[in-house]
Amino acid sequence: MARIAVIGAGMGAMAAAARLAVAGHRPVVLERASTYGGAVGRIERDGFAFDTGPALLPLPAVYRDLFIKTGKEPLEDLVGLTQVEPAVRHVFADGTTTDLPNARRAGVAEALDAAVGAGAGARWSAFMNRAREAWDRTRRPLLEEPLWPNWQVLADREPYPAAPRKRLLRAARTATTLAEIGVLELGGDPRLVALLEQYALAYGLDPRTAPASAAVLPYMEQTFGTWAVTGGMRALADAVYARCLKRKVEFRFGAEVTRIVEKDGRAAGVELADGTVEDAEFVVAGVAPGVLDRLLPERSVQGEVPARSEAEVPSRLTVHLALRGARPEGTPHRTVVHGADRGAELAWLFDGGPLAQRPTVTVLRSGDASQVPDAEHEAVSVTVTVPPHARVAEGDVEQVLAAAERAVPGLRERLLWHEVRTPRDIAEATGADGGAVPAPALAAARGNLLQAANRTALPGLFAVGGWSHPGGGLPHAGMSGALVAGLIVEGPEFRGSQ
Ligand SMILES: Cc1cc2nc3c(=O)[nH]c(=O)nc-3n(C[C@H](O)[C@H](O)[C@H](O)COP(=O)(O)OP(=O)(O)OC[C@H]3O[C@@H](n4cnc5c(N)ncnc54)[C@H](O)[C@@H]3O)c2cc1C
Repeated sequence: MARIAVIGAGMGAMAAAARLAVAGHRPVVLERASTYGGAVGRIERDGFAFDTGPALLPLPAVYRDLFIKTGKEPLEDLVGLTQVEPAVRHVFADGTTTDLPNARRAGVAEALDAAVGAGAGARWSAFMNRAREAWDRTRRPLLEEPLWPNWQVLADREPYPAAPRKRLLRAARTATTLAEIGVLELGGDPRLVALLEQYALAYGLDPRTAPASAAVLPYMEQTFGTWAVTGGMRALADAVYARCLKRKVEFRFGAEVTRIVEKDGRAAGVELADGTVEDAEFVVAGVAPGVLDRLLPERSVQGEVPARSEAEVPSRLTVHLALRGARPEGTPHRTVVHGADRGAELAWLFDGGPLAQRPTVTVLRSGDASQVPDAEHEAVSVTVTVPPHARVAEGDVEQVLAAAERAVPGLRERLLWHEVRTPRDIAEATGADGGAVPAPALAAARGNLLQAANRTALPGLFAVGGWSHPGGGLPHAGMSGALVAGLIVEGPEFRGSQ
């Protein structure tokens, strides 16, 4: 029964703490803020409520497993889960609109044939079949197992298979990036390209350099579905926190960790901003790499994985809108309004170019009665991926609203007030430099898109959450909690929870 200091109360750290407590350990979670959840926050005003972090849940199986393993309770008994239908509406730059059904790949193909033209669905389906191969090859090492000590194998080998080539096109190249898949395998139709590349943009990845295996991102969504949580995603954070309390995990809020204490070459506790020291046999850090570096300035603990520094990783700008008037019947939960100019948007996001006019935005209109004062009002959130450290000016918000109007007609006339959440707000909520938001770990790309191993170079110190293996996002961070708990409970022989 070991005392374990857990730094931060993000979703990954809480998932680890609950599992460690069930295994008989005594975790104490030290959180600098006054609440838990990190990125998974909520703002409330005048009867409106908005998620400040992710609003939809992919792969709920990860949280099902957490609640079963830490208390034999089905997730559905603790939070309301609904598969959103349609999964998403796409509004392309040329005005083409299509609704894609949730987790019905045949339905997606039909919708694409109808919207883009005969053959589009077949091309997309063939791509999804190749994406499934990449998923099958990487699901265990990039979701369910601790990072392999020989992770270079993952960095060097592209798991996305080559598309079969027609004889005449023997000279054709094999796609190595997501952008190349768009041209070589989806025929370069700007709408299919936009559909594909939006998956990279939504995770802050550059489709021109994201490896072909980033195909697992659309595969996950279109195969396993997208879920809404009743009351908003904060309700999931509430449930994980409640589970921790039930398992006697101790929480201290307003407790900023300023140093990891090292004794005899091992992590031996943490020091807090008020100077007190918390002794521990293990330390679990659920914080961004820049924070971790500051906690152990004398040594590098992150191992050899060449993951991008958070300073290069994009953030998000979100505008929450309180609207008068009811949400129209049949409104999709999520609409992606594609950018007007792909080249300008990529240059803005990844090459330091000027602000793109009308960038790609995601509009969320949940229809959850608990998030509005009454049925005569609507809560809408509009999110755009922005460059790291982006400063937000009034003109940027205007661009976002202009794009959102394509999904919410009459938006300006209905607007009561709006609240802007900037990269700086995200940095405040998570501690990540520039408000960077980590993506799920991906293979290939010379290892640039892997995340640091959960075991660090300092014995007794483990990394959990979106900035460690298997990367960012709610399911992946939840899995990191399972992996860290497994590594502490079972030791270095632990090979995954399945
Ligand atoms: C706007 C936004 C949109 C997102 N959208 C998506 C999405 O669509 N899909 C998706 O999969 N993921 C999305 N994410 C990412 C997802 O929310 C996170 O990857 C996930 O919540 C995992 O978080 P974490 O465990 O890494 O902890 P974090 O949420 O990063 O929390 C870290 C915690 O550590 C605390 N902390 C930091 N430093 C210290 C210290 N020195 N001492 C004590 N405590 C400290 C912080 O206060 C914070 O509570 C989004 C995030 C944001 C912000």
